[in-house]
Amino acid sequence: MIALFPSTAFAGSVDLHCHSTASDGILSPAELVSRAKTHGVTLLALTDHDTVAGVAEARAAGKQLGVAIIPGIELSARWGQRGVHIVGLNVDPSSTAIHHAVDRRNELRVERAVRIAERLEKRGFSGALVGARSLAGDSVLGRPHFARWLVEQGHVEDAARAFKRYLGAGKVGDVKVDWPSLADTIADIHAAGGQAVLAHPLKYGLTRTRLRSLLQEFHSAGGDAVELLCGRQNPVQTRELRQLVDGLTVAPGALGPRYSLGSDFHQPDQPWRELGSVHLPADVEPVWKLWQTSPN
Ligand SMILES: [Zn+2]
Ligand SMILES: [Zn+2]
Repeated sequence: MIALFPSTAFAGSVDLHCHSTASDGILSPAELVSRAKTHGVTLLALTDHDTVAGVAEARAAGKQLGVAIIPGIELSARWGQRGVHIVGLNVDPSSTAIHHAVDRRNELRVERAVRIAERLEKRGFSGALVGARSLAGDSVLGRPHFARWLVEQGHVEDAARAFKRYLGAGKVGDVKVDWPSLADTIADIHAAGGQAVLAHPLKYGLTRTRLRSLLQEFHSAGGDAVELLCGRQNPVQTRELRQLVDGLTVAPGALGPRYSLGSDFHQPDQPWRELGSVHLPADVEPVWKLWQTSPN
């Protein structure tokens, strides 16, 4: 189990952010690993929303196919009044801290789902909760399941329209959740032995000043790395993001945040990128340099 991890010398692509059927992806963990292998990925983190339920299957597939699997999770968190996502990499899936983090978010997701369903019901869409739950099955219940239900019932043409009309920001199903704070989320990831990574900083629609505040607060709260690249990004914004991260205030003797990356793959032919299709520039410190030993 313990072998020196070839942090600088391994061949192939790295993808440290993707989703399986354990949350809102459409491939099973094993299918996902197999697809990653096909696309040249040699180091893959499975980071399902608020669950580690897919990790064991991904690890087994990774062992068979020769893909190193990093156990991960994408935790919903709160920064001020805003929801943000924190990826935990290299976490111990059986740790108390992860169980606690997952259970708390499950409770909050159920509360949110009930409220979304109540609001949709008032709009005349009855049966949303039962419908979304049955679509979710064993997966983490989320708004995408309500979107799929609205499509299946013929209320909207596709999931994108479901968000635009009913579930997105400012719409009837936009129920705010009081997720655990940024600092508590980072602390839970550390308690599970992992590294905390700020997911897709450019996707929150923040001004440059607000984005800098988020990055600084994340770093000051102990955050380890920032996703420089995640899914589709504008290269100009990516450059600006790097300038912001490199310019953060860092305590004397401490290091600034490392960098991470991922496709945020959920399913083929969607706005997310293909597995293994994003690459960090050679001159940044990658998060995987923090890993002393083999993740498998
Ligand atoms: Zn996310
Ligand atoms: Zn994601």
